Amino acid sequence: MSPDRAHVLRIRDLHARVGSVEILRGLDLEIRSGEVHAIMGPNGSGKSTLSHSLMGRADYTVTRGSVTIDGEELLGLRTWERAARGLFLAMQYPVEVPGVPVAALVGASLRSRGVDEAEYGGSTGIAARIANEAASLHLADEFLVRGVNDEFSGGEKKRVETLQLAILEPRFAILDEIDSGLDVDALRDVSRRIEALTQQRALGVLAITHYSRLLTELRPDRVHVMLAGRIVTSGGPELADELEAEGYEGLAARLGVTELAIEGEPDTTSSFDRAKTQSLADLLKEHEGLDGADRAHDPFADPLA
Ligand code: ADP
Ligand code: MG
Repeated sequence: MSPDRAHVLRIRDLHARVGSVEILRGLDLEIRSGEVHAIMGPNGSGKSTLSHSLMGRADYTVTRGSVTIDGEELLGLRTWERAARGLFLAMQYPVEVPGVPVAALVGASLRSRGVDEAEYGGSTGIAARIANEAASLHLADEFLVRGVNDEFSGGEKKRVETLQLAILEPRFAILDEIDSGLDVDALRDVSRRIEALTQQRALGVLAITHYSRLLTELRPDRVHVMLAGRIVTSGGPELADELEAEGYEGLAARLGVTELAIEGEPDTTSSFDRAKTQSLADLLKEHEGLDGADRAHDPFADPLA
């Protein structure tokens, strides 16, 4: 096997739910190093649920299936452990973290991977690499010292996601609508940088998108169409053009699929919705039962709890 195809991300029969609603209904996908796979699907078909389930977000419950990198099971690992195994998620709606500068976040991520402090300075150090990366993404230096995504425009947020992707060098990147809210220039900068990473560092990419315009820059090897929690058809790049012409409804009719999006009301008793409305005190009380052994291994656990 050539080194380019060295790593494999394998998703098998993935089922996931939020609250009581099953959203992923048996999804299979295999991506090798250097490959670009696109998942296209209408709103509500479960694309973001797939990205969150792969990364291990707590309110998405995987009920069946497996996700491996080079045969090692990721389900059951914490999000940071999955990241350490080489998985990266560029979120559809990146979180704003006022008070934590972009450069500090990227530096801390590298330190957690054992990058030596001594490598920070000089023209080849980490600081220089971050600055160079920002320049190639046409991101002004001032953004590196501002709070992560704090009052950034859509384009700036996606450039910062791409900066983290380029610096952290994951094996596989999931890009959840990295093209949404981008103007043409930002779209070109971001997709060209990612395209280069697939070639120079054999990054494997799962690009989730509504539209085919991302795919003209980030030329996919395979295109998959997702309807109601399943991949209903896969093909080459020409599938994106066919979709553009016939639309999701046309494709669904041709395939005899009746359901496009997940039906049913979002379950308002899910932990996600509760978290938004619950007081912090109630939230902490609810998590009191967490077992002590778990906390000892969780670097994000509250040390005072
Ligand atoms: P897509 O990204 O394809 O638009 P999503 O995965 O965001 O689709 O959503 C699929 C379905 O799951 C929708 O019906 C949505 O309302 C529901 N859903 C997704 N995440 C949550 C959540 N955290 N809480 C409640 N419902 C959710
Ligand atoms: Mg989405």
